[in-house]
Amino acid sequence: MPELFNELKDMMLNHEKDHLRNLIPYYETLWQHRDKLKELTDEISKWESIGIQYECDQEDYYTEGTIIIQFYKDSEDRYTQPDFHYDINLLHDQRYWGYCECNENDEDYNILKKCCGDGCDWVVPQISVNKINKVVYESFDGVEKDLWELEDKWKEYLSDHKEKVRQEELDRLENHLEQTKLDIKKLKENK
Ligand SMILES: [Zn+2]
Repeated sequence: MPELFNELKDMMLNHEKDHLRNLIPYYETLWQHRDKLKELTDEISKWESIGIQYECDQEDYYTEGTIIIQFYKDSEDRYTQPDFHYDINLLHDQRYWGYCECNENDEDYNILKKCCGDGCDWVVPQISVNKINKVVYESFDGVEKDLWELEDKWKEYLSDHKEKVRQEELDRLENHLEQTKLDIKKLKENK
């Protein structure tokens, strides 16, 4: 029977070694709040197998990414899944407690961290556990040309946008050309 913390540890140690350092604080935060995770841990215990996947936040770095938990009745069959899964969002709780002015003479000074670790600015690991229900999962009904017909109704908006993008690109290139001319002139004068 799968168990959340064993599976998390396995994922961290065997598949996400590159992110281990960043994941450890979140593992510890989840463990601290394990009593509140009963809904998720009960759900996990009902399945023969679960999938735990870590996706780091490559786009904005405002979060540390997401751990996605999926459920499988049969560990051989990864396609049949219920219409829900869980996301554990790994967030940053910013505590602006003051710029660190700790020094080696302070009582609790940690030489490696160069700080006493209490009262200075700190980004605290924060978790948000969400059950995601798939409500609708459908494809477009019809053949390709049916969609073309529907897309036609949007034409004027698309062409407006296209013209705006064209104008912006033209302005950008013209500015660039002006700048290049200036650079050439400068270089010629500086013989
Ligand atoms: Zn400090």
